[in-house]
Amino acid sequence: MNIQTLGIIGAGQMGNGIAQVCATAGIKVVMCDINAAAVQRGIDTVSANLDRLIKKDKLLAADKQPIIDRIHGTTDLGALAQSDFIVEAATENLELKKNILKDIDALAKPGAIIATNTSSISITRLAATVSRPQQFVGMHFFNPVPVMALVEVIRGIQTSDETYAATEALARRVGKTPIAVKNSPGFVVNRVLVPMINEAAFVLQEGLAKAEEIDSGMQLGANHPIGPLALADLIGLDTCLAVMEVLYREFNDPKYRPAPLLREMVDAGYLGRKAKRGFYTY
Ligand code: NAD
Repeated sequence: MNIQTLGIIGAGQMGNGIAQVCATAGIKVVMCDINAAAVQRGIDTVSANLDRLIKKDKLLAADKQPIIDRIHGTTDLGALAQSDFIVEAATENLELKKNILKDIDALAKPGAIIATNTSSISITRLAATVSRPQQFVGMHFFNPVPVMALVEVIRGIQTSDETYAATEALARRVGKTPIAVKNSPGFVVNRVLVPMINEAAFVLQEGLAKAEEIDSGMQLGANHPIGPLALADLIGLDTCLAVMEVLYREFNDPKYRPAPLLREMVDAGYLGRKAKRGFYTY
């Protein structure tokens, strides 16, 4: 599949990161958000990220403007009509995403692939909302998109081999390493990572060791670059709790029970770095 123009819905943290890596790879991008201020913030973020790369000698100063020029920011969903591939990266909410996907499906050209960057919603369920479920796929980037090398390419039961292959090729073209994943709650990375963080919260709650010791244990004993509790502070404790709740609910398995301490901290507003307080204070 020859992808010349890529559409993105949502200019937030993920949307603008996806825009940056695609435009850097030479793809024309249409980035659409309902909020005009979010569109501008998205473009400003890309510009600041590129400046940082120039300072670090990872990008030629002359290459910046052509990258920015390849990104067309808009609040008009209709501007996505000519896109060959569309990535939905709007707010994580099932009803919102269903509505957006129906609208995109109605205006996207025949043959265009529609992907979602959802972290927690079933790809199969979302695929069922469009008239082209074979051309629907999960394309799960990681935050911050320009830095993180992985993309999980997630197949709903309806996703065709051609759609899967085109998505995998796109991930490689924008410099990422794709892994193939079947649709399932938490996909692969969150399914493995977040229960580990949750278990670290249980260990802390049971008083087996202090936060610093749990983190040092996993850094020095398991060779993790950052301990699970420090990582939870980075991700946001509310996000970690939301992932555990999805796993618990969808699998209906008590092994995914959220740690009471995690819930307690979220209730208190101790959400991690963004609240300047989580398992650590900042
Ligand atoms: P965000 O809040 O930074 O951005 C979401 C954007 O969507 C906002 O700018 C909002 O105005 C826009 N939006 C809402 N409704 C819209 C609509 N109807 N049409 C167009 N735009 C609309 O959120 P984010 O962190 O970028 O997350 C986006 C998606 O990516 C979510 O599905 C999330 O689960 C997923 N995701 C997030 C991360 C992460 O670490 N943040 C990682 C992987 C995947």
